[in-house]
Amino acid sequence: MKKINIAIDGPSAAGKSSIAKILAERLGYVHLDTGAMYRCTAYKALQKGIDLSDEAALVRMLQETKIDLTPSGNVFLDGKEVSHAIRADEVSMAASKVASLAGVRRELVARQQKMAEAGGFIMDGRDIGTVVLPEAELKIFMTATPHARALRRLRQNQEEAISESDLATVEKEIEERDYQDTHRKSSPLKKAEDAIVLDTSDLTIQETADAILNLAEPFLKEEHA
Ligand code: C5P
Repeated sequence: MKKINIAIDGPSAAGKSSIAKILAERLGYVHLDTGAMYRCTAYKALQKGIDLSDEAALVRMLQETKIDLTPSGNVFLDGKEVSHAIRADEVSMAASKVASLAGVRRELVARQQKMAEAGGFIMDGRDIGTVVLPEAELKIFMTATPHARALRRLRQNQEEAISESDLATVEKEIEERDYQDTHRKSSPLKKAEDAIVLDTSDLTIQETADAILNLAEPFLKEEHA
């Protein structure tokens, strides 16, 4: 029986990855954090001193780049673990820059589509419901106010000792990335017509996960029928 695919899109720090991870565990599905792939691209370009707007050079670099995402959420770039390093503020902003380039997107989207062919994926990103998996059975567009998202990101940064930025700085960076992600020409962040909007500003992670599981239930019943 073919498993379904679930697409979760939305702005930065809306809780997409945390929720996708919980859903994957509950359903026995695979979580694919596509943002990590853009982050790896940006991280490697920064390390190699490649201009973040040099599309041809970035595409060439990607053609010789291996990105592996393990089911437990670890990220390997050319065989080296970078799970933590790619979360730095500098890499977040750089990821949003390289993600605006059509050539970079083409390269990464092709990899994502190939991975999801078998079904059973929960993919989170910005263009999953619109471009990567337009046929996904369930599409969620997850939002929260910039303030709620900044508070969550700040907590995560502190827990994982990723950055020492204060709330105002985190909120400003989130707004900058929102602007960049929604205004780029190539696959801007937008809700797929058939996506269900979920505002998580006042929901806990568990409440959000339960809401999506309820929405997924009819499809899962079909899967087991
Ligand atoms: O989701 P995350 O914040 O890790 O993504 C980092 C950046 O990668 C985003 O700001 C966005 O610009 C880009 N991205 C994208 N398309 C995706 C996933 C991420 O453009 N599917």
